Amino acid sequence: MARRRPPHWGPADDPTVAAVYDLLATTISPKSDLEFSSTFELLVAVVLSAQATDKSVNEATARLYPVANTPTAILALGESGLIPYIQRIGLFRIKAKNVIALCGLLLERHGGQVPDTREALEALPGVGRKTANVVLNIAFGQPTIAVDTHVHRVANRLGFAISNSPDQTEAVLLARTPARHLVHAHHYLILHGRYTCTARAPRCGTCAVAGHCALGRVDPNRVIPVS
Ligand code: SF4
Repeated sequence: MARRRPPHWGPADDPTVAAVYDLLATTISPKSDLEFSSTFELLVAVVLSAQATDKSVNEATARLYPVANTPTAILALGESGLIPYIQRIGLFRIKAKNVIALCGLLLERHGGQVPDTREALEALPGVGRKTANVVLNIAFGQPTIAVDTHVHRVANRLGFAISNSPDQTEAVLLARTPARHLVHAHHYLILHGRYTCTARAPRCGTCAVAGHCALGRVDPNRVIPVS
């Protein structure tokens, strides 16, 4: 069995970490790739995006939301009515079940509104810690950092964290991210991971933060093997 590494915390006021965020802030617009026009649309889109691409979710919601974009309207569709809109998204059957149940609970417990607390969000079907973090951050401006595969990879490559799990990475990032960058840190890291520090072939040669990255300095054109 692989030996688990302890999370690396590092100093909370590391100037290198601050410099990386400052550079990312100059090159990345902190905006979600998901398309939505209300907090409810955002919540459903994030639930649908688990283990799926934002592109596939946007294609589905572009057809769904003009027809149904409220808890009442989606509940009225039912699972069988919702599935045709989302069936090109991975895990669409379980997601349809969750979205329908989620709409029912929003109406039953929250007057059809999306709650703004982690506890209430995570009590909804299909909503885990990562989804709650995304909604709290984007819709309510809270300084949460949702850690997906991109954020976890980038944080470890840059040496911000040496961690085994998204939860560990989140804890380290929350401790080490300068306060001025906390609200947008999620988007800086996820978009850097999606478009530059990609899993199979990171673009170290054109990376804005290569000067602060041990991996990039070793060989700016290297291809980092998938671990
Ligand atoms: S230099 Fe390479 S490994 Fe380091 S953050 Fe940039 S793309 Fe990722």
